[in-house]
Amino acid sequence: MTAWLDGEAVHRLVELRRELHAHAETGWTEFWTTARIAGILDGLGYNVAVGRDILDLDTVMGRPSDEDLAPFRERALGQGADQGWIGRMGGYTGALATMDTGRPGPVIALRFDIDAVDVAEARDERHRPFREGFASLNENAMHACGHDAHAAIGLGLAELLSRRRDELAGAIKFVFQPAEEGVRGGKAVAGSGVLDDVDFFLAAHVGMGVPSGAVAPGCKDFLCTTKFDVVYRGRSAHAGGAPNEGRNALLAGASASLALAGIPPHKQGATRLNVGVMQAGTGRNVVPARAVLKVETRGQTPDLDDYVYARAMEVVAGAATMYGVEYDVAKMGEAVDAVSDGELVELVADRALSIPGVTTVAPVLSLGGSEDVSWMMRAVQGRGGKAVYFVLGSDIAAGHHNEYFDIDEGVIGTGVSLFADLVFSLQRRG
Ligand SMILES: [Zn+2]
Ligand SMILES: [Zn+2]
Repeated sequence: MTAWLDGEAVHRLVELRRELHAHAETGWTEFWTTARIAGILDGLGYNVAVGRDILDLDTVMGRPSDEDLAPFRERALGQGADQGWIGRMGGYTGALATMDTGRPGPVIALRFDIDAVDVAEARDERHRPFREGFASLNENAMHACGHDAHAAIGLGLAELLSRRRDELAGAIKFVFQPAEEGVRGGKAVAGSGVLDDVDFFLAAHVGMGVPSGAVAPGCKDFLCTTKFDVVYRGRSAHAGGAPNEGRNALLAGASASLALAGIPPHKQGATRLNVGVMQAGTGRNVVPARAVLKVETRGQTPDLDDYVYARAMEVVAGAATMYGVEYDVAKMGEAVDAVSDGELVELVADRALSIPGVTTVAPVLSLGGSEDVSWMMRAVQGRGGKAVYFVLGSDIAAGHHNEYFDIDEGVIGTGVSLFADLVFSLQRRG
């Protein structure tokens, strides 16, 4: 067994994870997080780009307006974020660090997502982050998916590889991706060109039902998904005095919600549809002029997701016609399916047991959800590169996205070590 990290290094990474946990920021508001990450990478000697420079702005999805983001940027500055980095971000989050060794060799990209979930963190003694004083300082933002650990693993790996730079060839790229939750940021990173020269792409998630000590060397059954908001715009009127003059947006939203749930499944595979939010109305005696629906479709293949989405658009339009209201649809997120390359799945399975703390290679995990890493995997594979998405096992205190979620921090050291081992293994192959 190779010890990639000493106890002191692991301890520092756990502290870093806790610092990131306390500064949890949801998708597109990761200003403090991005500045912190960029500062560390810069200090390690990497070439660092942030925000606007690493995104295709045309495919950024589900980003709040500049006006709505301003208070979050202020909050980050108030919490000590570096003004220089905040300025360089140009209002967009995420970071890319590159090490070009100048020696011929493969280009290896490593992806770590950095955003938190829209959840108010539990504030009671049962919950370790609260008990030990590192619970989220930010309202309705919690690292309830483990992306704080992902970022800490990425930074630990960046430090390790920078120290061993002389043993490396080719180039290493670290992608610290914004807005994974709601699958909003991945497409914009993939479309920005930063992955165009990549030969090998590695990404991982912690937890996901895989226990501590185990590694699932790949994931299958990603669902393609489309997230969209529908806004119905009617006309308000006195509900008693002039109901005929109103155009009822609430009823359009309600009818659409029921009919959306009635879209039939497809014989060719799994499909899903969920109306997660419906908001409408202003007062008891007013015909509601506005209704908002937040909806997602999913499908086992792009065609199946397209099928559900196309039917959903018919339903949305039909409900508008029924109630004489106008409507807009805005796409808020999108992910495709992705398949890990067998060769890399085998490599992960092969190397995992050489890592201290890993005792089991679990089967390839059936994801049954969506992950916008898929855009990046496809971008790399589309140009002849290879990609893998694996799971670093960690016992969890509660399910992902639950207010009591917490990880086994042992996964941080294990994660850095496995990624480091994989990078050096790929280098040896050229
Ligand atoms: Zn999540
Ligand atoms: Zn996640």
